[in-house]
Amino acid sequence: MFNKEEFKENAIQIINWIADYFADVENFPVRSEVKYGEIKKMIATQVPEKAEPFDHIFSDFQEKIIPGITHWQSPRYFAYFPANASIPSVFAEFLTAALGVQGMKWITSPAATELEEVVTDWLRKMIGLPDTFSGVIQDTASVATLCAVLAAREKITDFQSNTKGLSFEKIRVYCSDEAHSSVEKAVRIAGIGSENLVKIQVDDECRMIAGDLEKAIHEDLLKDFKPACIVGALGTTGTCAIDPIKKLTQIAKKYNIWLHIDAAFAGTALILPEFRKEISGLKDVDSIVLNPHKWMFTNFDCSTFFVRDSKHLQKTFRLVPHYLQTDSDHEVTDFSNWGIQLGRRFRALKLWFVIRNFGMRGIQEKIRKHIQLAEYFEKKISGSAWFELVVPRNLAVVSFSIKNEFSSSLEELNKKNAELLESINVSGKAYMSHTIVNGKFVLRFVCAQTNTEKQHVDEALQTIFTLVEKQI
Ligand SMILES: *Cc1c(COP(=O)(O)O)cnc(C)c1O
Repeated sequence: MFNKEEFKENAIQIINWIADYFADVENFPVRSEVKYGEIKKMIATQVPEKAEPFDHIFSDFQEKIIPGITHWQSPRYFAYFPANASIPSVFAEFLTAALGVQGMKWITSPAATELEEVVTDWLRKMIGLPDTFSGVIQDTASVATLCAVLAAREKITDFQSNTKGLSFEKIRVYCSDEAHSSVEKAVRIAGIGSENLVKIQVDDECRMIAGDLEKAIHEDLLKDFKPACIVGALGTTGTCAIDPIKKLTQIAKKYNIWLHIDAAFAGTALILPEFRKEISGLKDVDSIVLNPHKWMFTNFDCSTFFVRDSKHLQKTFRLVPHYLQTDSDHEVTDFSNWGIQLGRRFRALKLWFVIRNFGMRGIQEKIRKHIQLAEYFEKKISGSAWFELVVPRNLAVVSFSIKNEFSSSLEELNKKNAELLESINVSGKAYMSHTIVNGKFVLRFVCAQTNTEKQHVDEALQTIFTLVEKQI
């Protein structure tokens, strides 16, 4: 039976722990220091047969789980892309967990569906998409991109491949060499085959070369292939490069190909009017994904997927067995018909809490601040004796390397960069990751964690300079 007093007592312990964690998180080594297997060894291996008191479980959490945690919420987290939480988002997740709603259909929790319609429409307006677009929340960008590829596959086969299966006519999908691996995964899962993913070369700033794309499409048409989908990047994972979207829309229109934009990280910057001005053509794309769980302070997972014509999604995914049919089906939105999963988490609540509690202006200010801090970091790095930029900074992402002059070969330079990165991460004072550009091992500094301030960037710079000096 539910014991309200006991619940409150335990909940207060958890709240206190979280409050201390948020206050102290920057003092933890950012990347977990354990070796593989250490955590498993600490956790009892027998299945617990008898009920254990909450206190035991919670103290094990603190002693045995926390050492194996990498602190994504640390303001010293500069690796990959962030997975940012924030206080309103954490509060909403408490409530989501308590309600335990499964929002597969409107009727299974009307507020879940209607709030999802409202918050995705807010976000649509915030990033400047016209009202022909509608949004749906997915778990991740990988799944949103898969949905786009599947919808494009259905469209190119006159919505036949779902029922007839794929015949061996070759459907083609195009992205750049720098596109995220989720594109290739989607093409594999969609039955198109990774051999039919055409990877277009990039220029020296890692952006897709539009002329090469058109050439590839043209050649494919001559061979009777079916060009179905172009995936453009608004912010690649490696260096946050932005493909020439306007040109992609022109090519997509000319050849009647679905254009999907992967804006998983950088899409949040579209909330800034000054950034939006630099990006033209977005209103003409077929779909775009951006992850509030990366740069919009909404804890993992929450990925928003916008499509210009939601009918395509429904024609691709709608399948309603008799046990799910209700009288209201034709009047309401059932988001399970917009994607792969039937069961759906109530993710709209945290996005609602975040957008209201920050306000659009609050989100804009945070993002601008991150970009300014990245600019500051970029200046310090490019002005130093040790480093050079590999590509110009894109938004909050700085890609740099030890100068060529400190090594006699690319191989040696790569080794030095990799060793430096590892020593930064072992220090526990900052956490960064890498990419490869033209064979060069590149250090990435992504300045986009919710709570990063100038002080953390200065300390990261100090760590980097001290370590490079020791190493060279
Ligand atoms: C992070 C990222 C992804 C994958 O995001 P998930 O939500 O983890 O699937 C896809 N594309 C780009 C450009 C990314 O940066």
